[in-house]
Amino acid sequence: MDLLVVGSVGLDHVETPFGEIDNALGGAATFISLAASYFTKPVQLVGVVGDDFPQEHVDMLEDHMVELDNLEVIKGGKTFRWGGRYHYDLNVRDTLYTDLNVFENFNPKIPDKLKKNSFIILGNILPSLQQSVIDQLEGDNFVVTDTMNLWIETTYDDLIKVLKSTNALIINDSEARLLAKEANLIKAARIIREMGPEYLIIKKGEHGALLFHEDTVFSAPAYPLESIFDPTGAGDTFLGGFAGYLHSSGDMSFDNVKRAVIYGSAMASFCVEQFSTKGLEDLDKLQIHDRFLGFRELSRFDDE
Ligand code: AMP
Repeated sequence: MDLLVVGSVGLDHVETPFGEIDNALGGAATFISLAASYFTKPVQLVGVVGDDFPQEHVDMLEDHMVELDNLEVIKGGKTFRWGGRYHYDLNVRDTLYTDLNVFENFNPKIPDKLKKNSFIILGNILPSLQQSVIDQLEGDNFVVTDTMNLWIETTYDDLIKVLKSTNALIINDSEARLLAKEANLIKAARIIREMGPEYLIIKKGEHGALLFHEDTVFSAPAYPLESIFDPTGAGDTFLGGFAGYLHSSGDMSFDNVKRAVIYGSAMASFCVEQFSTKGLEDLDKLQIHDRFLGFRELSRFDDE
């Protein structure tokens, strides 16, 4: 079973109270693939860039065994660009611009050899494009899906169709409330799981994440970091760590999915410590495992 990631690859301009960075490597599929690459190799990335996409980023991704055979390069085209500015409260972000460029005509094509029995991560793109990927798959697949407020509000029916084929959905708390049309998160989770996903993860920013499965809920803590420089891509990195770990272990039991949530949280905590993808470029397994153990200590207590 190959791990396949579909989504944006781009160049970001990010401003935070601590500084700014221009032309930085970004895009949901980039963060997802990089995070997943610490657990499973190779990661197959399906995306599109223009021929202005810097070779250094290609080299860095390939060094992590992110396979780019299916990263289409459009001759004379411009790569997707996004700019964001964070407030003093890093939970608040303004989008400065979104230049879709070659991403506007993105039409993901899954190569034949990856269509069967794949583990697939659908990054946050138009639900109709996510559906077009699902329609290309054959056999028994495991589908992990991300989405956002915009798609819930504007393309609800398409999204509902995608959820029918989704095994695990990862969204944040405001998206969960909007999708379920229910303010209480526990009730919202039940409603969303009835839409299709057997696993639902609701991220609560700096307050951790909740995992729902059948009648059970697991609460993952957030790591108390002193230095958060750039939250860009944290959600995608969570997704990559979560899915990369699950894919590598091949064990979809609830106990193992709990571990995957903690690995996702650990990877996201590395992501926010530096600008762009920098916090994800030079990790090793021991560092990741140490942070996993740190998470365990955060909420471990005795009954006496
Ligand atoms: P996140 O912080 O998880 O929202 O992810 C931020 C990343 O998503 C950035 O690196 C952007 O390049 C990318 N991004 C922002 N807006 C879009 C969009 N409309 N479609 C696809 N990717 C986007």
